[in-house]
Amino acid sequence: MLCGICGSTNVSRDAWGEWDVAAQEWLLRTVFDYAHCHSCDAETRLVEAQLKD
Ligand SMILES: [Zn+2]
Repeated sequence: MLCGICGSTNVSRDAWGEWDVAAQEWLLRTVFDYAHCHSCDAETRLVEAQLKD
């Protein structure tokens, strides 16, 4: 996933993490629509891109 504005991969989604007692760690439960680019430091639209090898 890339930032639709600047092309950075330094992006996050708003999400719920659910506590897993047995594993003693947070599991990703739900990912919401809000996307944030840490390079733009603003809300963004994510675009999907293929990794080049
Ligand atoms: Zn950006």
